[in-house]
Amino acid sequence: MNIEEFSKLMCDSLAKNRLNATSKEQTESFFAFTEILMRVNQTTNLTAIRNVEDIIAKHYVDSMLAVDLISEGARVLDIGCGPGFPSIPLAITRPDLQIVALDSTEKKIAFVRDASNLLSLKNLTTISGRAEDSMIRKQIGSVDVVVSRAVARLNILCELGLPYLKVGGKLIAMKASKADEELAEAMNAIEVLGGKHKQTHSCILHSLNGAPESRNLIEIAKIKKTPPIYPRAYAAITKKPL
Ligand code: SAH
Repeated sequence: MNIEEFSKLMCDSLAKNRLNATSKEQTESFFAFTEILMRVNQTTNLTAIRNVEDIIAKHYVDSMLAVDLISEGARVLDIGCGPGFPSIPLAITRPDLQIVALDSTEKKIAFVRDASNLLSLKNLTTISGRAEDSMIRKQIGSVDVVVSRAVARLNILCELGLPYLKVGGKLIAMKASKADEELAEAMNAIEVLGGKHKQTHSCILHSLNGAPESRNLIEIAKIKKTPPIYPRAYAAITKKPL
């Protein structure tokens, strides 16, 4: 596929989801990223989504659903970024943000680091490690926004993510369907960890050829400090979720 064909698909996919078109430079970055992703994915398993139309809709456009929920100049942590979602699309479209992409799988972070260098993304740093690890927490410090897509159920994600937030910051959990169920299950965790459910943004993700899918972005505001005993070790977090 050449850049003209790619640009048209990207433009159509964004328009179908009522998102602003990307600039020429941003589209070129997405094109370059797609080439790297598809090439590396032939030998390293990064994503099960393999055709360009679906990569655009289910990775790029889906990641960009969070774009308007993040305030100007925020420091953002993407917990469990995998091959770079939502961190890479956010870094390309929001040069004002300072994004930290974190994943516990070294080969995925190595891919995000290489891609970020190739695209010369100045607003993205990569860290390999676990969110609940105290050394990693020291290294990252506090952030304004935590984003996370397809990593853990909300009660678990809150224990991983809320401790990183400054009071006044927010966690954005990017979910498919059944968000209400997860939210109900996470109410205790949210309260114990110093959070408050602010809003759930529900929308439909339209792809260019497949069926529409529902998406829910759950916003949890950080309203007070998290007690210092959290996060616990991962085994405790998952065995006895809050
Ligand atoms: N956010 C990406 C990847 C989702 S797969 C996307 O939407 O495409 C979940 C990822 O979370 C995996 O890459 C896994 O390595 C990472 N992960 C799971 N638990 C983690 C933890 N405690 N700390 C950091 N990364 C974690």
